[in-house]
Amino acid sequence: MKIIGELALVGAIASVFIVAARGRAVERAAEEAAGRDYMRNLDEIMSKAKNKKVIASWDYESNITKYNEDRLLQISLELAEEEKEHWKETMSYLWHEYEDQDLKRMFQKYTKLGTSALPEDLNERLINAINNMQSTYAKATICSYSDRTKCDLHVEPEVTDIFATSNDPEELKYTWLEWHKAAGAASKGNFTEYVAMDNEAAKLNGYDSVAEWWLSYYEADDSEDQFAALWAQVKPLYQQIHAYVRRHLRLKYGEDVVPARGPIPAHLLGNIWAQTWNQVEKFTKPYPDKPEIDVTNALRAQNYTALKFFKTAEEFFTSLNLSPMPDLFWERSIIEKPTDGRDMVCHASAWDFYDGEDFRIRQCTTITSEFFKTTHHEMGHIQYYLQYKDQPVVYREGANPGFHEAVGDVIALSVSTPKHLRVMGLLEDGTDDIETNINQLYKMGLEKIVFLPFAYLLDLFRYGVFRGTTSPDEYNCHYWQLREALQGVEPPAPRSEDDFDPAAKYHISADVEYMRYYISYIIQFQFQRSLCQIAGEYVPGDETKLLSNCDIYKNTEAGNALGKMLQLGSSKPWQDAMEALTGQRNMDASGLLEYFAPLHDWLKAENERTGEFVGWEPSTVPFCTAEQRSAMESSGFNTRLKKYASM
Ligand SMILES: [Zn+2]
Repeated sequence: MKIIGELALVGAIASVFIVAARGRAVERAAEEAAGRDYMRNLDEIMSKAKNKKVIASWDYESNITKYNEDRLLQISLELAEEEKEHWKETMSYLWHEYEDQDLKRMFQKYTKLGTSALPEDLNERLINAINNMQSTYAKATICSYSDRTKCDLHVEPEVTDIFATSNDPEELKYTWLEWHKAAGAASKGNFTEYVAMDNEAAKLNGYDSVAEWWLSYYEADDSEDQFAALWAQVKPLYQQIHAYVRRHLRLKYGEDVVPARGPIPAHLLGNIWAQTWNQVEKFTKPYPDKPEIDVTNALRAQNYTALKFFKTAEEFFTSLNLSPMPDLFWERSIIEKPTDGRDMVCHASAWDFYDGEDFRIRQCTTITSEFFKTTHHEMGHIQYYLQYKDQPVVYREGANPGFHEAVGDVIALSVSTPKHLRVMGLLEDGTDDIETNINQLYKMGLEKIVFLPFAYLLDLFRYGVFRGTTSPDEYNCHYWQLREALQGVEPPAPRSEDDFDPAAKYHISADVEYMRYYISYIIQFQFQRSLCQIAGEYVPGDETKLLSNCDIYKNTEAGNALGKMLQLGSSKPWQDAMEALTGQRNMDASGLLEYFAPLHDWLKAENERTGEFVGWEPSTVPFCTAEQRSAMESSGFNTRLKKYASM
């Protein structure tokens, strides 16, 4: 009895706890339900706010006037205030305790306020600094080398054209220096202001600096090590291309202009930033007698227009069972440079207006094979927008920033194969022999491989700037130190801190994180390998089914697999999206190395045959002072450089 009585008492106490726990569970479920309602409502409000902001940005960038600038600033500030109010409310929810992982993820994303966390005066300074840099970049003009009274040369198309076509090292050097003066040096003050303000915003979002903020997009604790490991995979291949191109440039311009064992002068690579080297292909082809792979002439001969580029790209996507472009896209996109004399940001871009209907591209198309690919690339962004348009607004972004860039490029990989170009009637029939294949891979390498160190270092540079390990009086020195170490290029003339060369790159002046392009250029080959295996177009070891000649055109199975990954948006960590398509949960350059393996072997043999020195010795062009050099040693800059540059 006693025992029973005791048990009864224990039971009674226990049931009180159970009732209390049940009560708490009911309460929690109610809280979570309230959180869910709140989130649904918030996401809808954000859709409208984002729509309004994107419209103002589009209007400004499409027609750079004082009126549009003021309007954008005013709307940005209004929305920032509004967002901040919502953010405060979001923070009051106990979302950490929710059961629903998806709801938690949405809350977690909405608790990152971004630059709106800044007090209004600081936010205004930030916006002004970025707008000033953008405007300096967009309006920068230089005088022509051959006619110094003609002073209306913009970066697109004039400067780009000079770099693509000129064989005169003096003209190239002059143009390089003038452009960097106009678009670079003029922005240093605004850049310094931007860094200070953006770092304030980072701190208010719980990050030490913007570097940690940007790295958080990659949802891993060791992202920088991952980036470095990818570079270590790719570097040997890059060095072979570098050595091969340097030899040809030396033969063309002489050893006075191109040192045999030094970095390559940055103005000789056919691109003002030396970020892709496609334009040197015409005089460096491995097999010059093989038929031309550049289809620019064919595109012009067949009367391709900007509109036909876009229709052709759309047809590729629909052939994969992916979505056509909606009507509003055709109505509102700007696909050619307007002729009414307005200033416009010409850099190609794709826009999501967050209302599920309005998607646009703005691009100053010219009829070249490069723009043929760019069109597919930009439309890849739109395709991603379309595939995830039914996700909550907070998930309407790439799985990580590199995914977005990779999607269009994956399509372009198929589009630029000889196989596909023949199907399109842009390349004459011929056998797919090994020499044609090496030519094609080499051409791709000048775009895809040489881009990697440039893309990687641009944000290595900014991580240092944001963390304060690169101070304003070291900006240009550290920038060139990175360019020399990673890319093996040197400036065409001595540089100092009176110059500010990073801002002569659009994405620096426009506050666009750039590691996404590095990641994109690696994972697109991971994606391509999987898509091609699904399509049965790539069989390792089969010479007739090379990864580099794989075209997934009209393969709906591959298209469906791609669509599945795209539809996720950022609703799951990127590792899940990666796994959905590739079965891998990590970023890995082995797809890229498989793709380029025949070229890698060929280059090694060729550089050995010619006795070319592989790698580079330090530049003899000064870009750091002796004081700066000793500071780099004592501050740990050099140690970090060795680690991240895999030296
Ligand atoms: Zn893009």
